[in-house]
Amino acid sequence: MRNDIQEVLYNAEQIQAKVKELGETLTRDFEGRNPLVICVLKGAFIFMSDLVKEIDVPLEIDFMAVSSYGQSTKSSGVVKIIKDLDVSVEGRDVLIVEDIIDSGLTLSYLIDVLERRNAKSVTIVTLFDKPARRTVDLEADYKGFTLPDAFVVGYGLDYAEKYRNLPYIGVLKPEVYEK
Ligand code: 5GP
Ligand code: MG
Ligand code: MG
Repeated sequence: MRNDIQEVLYNAEQIQAKVKELGETLTRDFEGRNPLVICVLKGAFIFMSDLVKEIDVPLEIDFMAVSSYGQSTKSSGVVKIIKDLDVSVEGRDVLIVEDIIDSGLTLSYLIDVLERRNAKSVTIVTLFDKPARRTVDLEADYKGFTLPDAFVVGYGLDYAEKYRNLPYIGVLKPEVYEK
């Protein structure tokens, strides 16, 4: 798999340090609350499991799967709920855990859905951000790393369902998805 990676942007150690730092900040900011932490599947599953271990407040978790990309490397703009939450968000402090924000379309759709369902508050934490590619006005409340405009894989992020198990984040060689 390493042969398909052009450049490693952040290694496993750097990611772990950042996740710990985010967890400490969230622990401070969510003290006294009981957030519902929502993992946006599948890309955020590794970040979610590492992050909740670093958040030291009582919390609950749930999962949601949305799709906007299919097999492509660009957002189609159409977001579909593939798997919905098991629990109600009404009156809850919701923390959305995302892997990466690119166009922002997926998250702005999700925020809208959760607000319409009367969440008390909606907070966003993303590990990676590609602000250069935003098409909607959206900023995460907490973010790990700002990335250049390149398609990345690893630490949960895939290309055609592969590379999620890489412990680092790296740029995929364009020839892998151009062929
Ligand atoms: P957005 O709706 O913000 O354009 O993109 C949302 C989702 O697309 C992200 O949560 C992520 O799952 C996927 N995505 C965006 N950029 C990348 C990328 O560089 N690599 C991978 N593997 N997925 C991405
Ligand atoms: Mg995602
Ligand atoms: Mg994907």
